[in-house]
Amino acid sequence: MTTTANPTTAGTLTGGYDLPWAFDPEHLQWRDTVRRFVADRVEPGAARRSIDSRFDPELVRQAGELGMFGLLVDPEYGGAGADLRTLCLAVEELATVDSSLAVTVHVQSICASLLQHLAKGRPELLREILPGAATGETFISIGLTEPSGGSDAGNIATTARRDGDDWVVNGAKQFITNSGTPFSKYVILMCAVGDNRNGRPPVSAFLVPLDAPGVTVGGGYPKLGWRSSDTHPLFFDDVRVPADALLSEPGRGYRDVLEFLTWARLPIAAMSAGLASGCLSDTMRFVEERASFGRPLGAHQGVAFQVADVAALAATARTLTYDGAWKYDHGMPIKEAAATAKLVASEAANKAAYIATQLQGGYGFVEETATTRHYQDARILTVGEGTSEVQRMLIARSLGLSV
Ligand SMILES: Cc1cc2nc3c(=O)[nH]c(=O)nc-3n(C[C@H](O)[C@H](O)[C@H](O)COP(=O)(O)OP(=O)(O)OC[C@H]3O[C@@H](n4cnc5c(N)ncnc54)[C@H](O)[C@@H]3O)c2cc1C
Repeated sequence: MTTTANPTTAGTLTGGYDLPWAFDPEHLQWRDTVRRFVADRVEPGAARRSIDSRFDPELVRQAGELGMFGLLVDPEYGGAGADLRTLCLAVEELATVDSSLAVTVHVQSICASLLQHLAKGRPELLREILPGAATGETFISIGLTEPSGGSDAGNIATTARRDGDDWVVNGAKQFITNSGTPFSKYVILMCAVGDNRNGRPPVSAFLVPLDAPGVTVGGGYPKLGWRSSDTHPLFFDDVRVPADALLSEPGRGYRDVLEFLTWARLPIAAMSAGLASGCLSDTMRFVEERASFGRPLGAHQGVAFQVADVAALAATARTLTYDGAWKYDHGMPIKEAAATAKLVASEAANKAAYIATQLQGGYGFVEETATTRHYQDARILTVGEGTSEVQRMLIARSLGLSV
């Protein structure tokens, strides 16, 4: 049997879905740069880091040197001022072998971009924080999800109460990415700032230093996937922050943060495309190398059809991701496109990972293989940045259904 499979597992195997309409030459140059970084620096230790659940500060530092964390930061604050497709290409390539590093880059990118958006009238604050955020020396996290639930994002129990010139914060957040690394310095924290109106509290965003008295970063969660990413609970006990920690007008936080972050579903869709593509590369290698009944596995039609399904799932995820990202980069509305891309791509990645592990038989169940890691990492893709059910809710609403 002959194939054109990429012999390594690094790099996006697109199955012909190169999407020439979606990219400028600069995008493709950047993709090749990331692809080399993935092959040289990321892939070699990916299995070990995941098995050991080890966040690797040195790898993060190298990703920072490449400019991964400052893609969306304006050049005047030390970033690249790049577009969303550039970020999607970076996390897609990373996720072909290491979804943990991909989500580390994703979260830092959305938080730096969010701070830039919320504090756009405050250049002194941006000059203080964003250059470090762009290099990865200063991690910012986002604290939205609470122990009582994340899907109902406006229903926030963490409070910020005005006390003289200060605000006093009390409450807890759960599952917060990038909050306990050696680089972690701030959390953009969503807090209720008054009594309920129509059953919902008015919400605002605050910039809270993680070393402020009263902030406790809880122990890291043992996780099924994204094992070498960093995730902690955060606790706030009478945390006093100055008036200028307030980043959005009282009551406008939901709109200022969550509506701005609609685009953040697209890098998760890109990660899903990368993961599905990683499954495809690893499966192609496996079905060529392994034989049964006197033939390579891939020469059995029942196997080949399943590999074809993985290729089609990866292509679907890619196409929807870059349709949404292209629209965003051209100033078009993306609410429905981002929800659809996130829903379909993350579900496709899970199907691809299921097929890939099945095709690897017992090898698909042992931790050293890339496919096993993809299977573990795929599970969160239908949950983070809004579950599949939340995406369906958004799509249904855009169709005019009142759910
Ligand atoms: C590794 C990891 C990293 C994360 N990083 C961050 C982070 O950095 N910052 C942050 O704020 N959050 C983060 N999260 C939280 C994540 O966004 C939430 O887990 C997610 O939004 C779902 O919230 P939940 O877990 O509370 O589930 P719930 O909201 O309790 O939902 C439970 C289930 O019920 C379903 N459901 C809920 N309501 C409905 C409904 N009306 N109709 C149908 N189904 C419904 C959901 O789809 C889900 O399947 C992270 C989570 C993980 C696991």
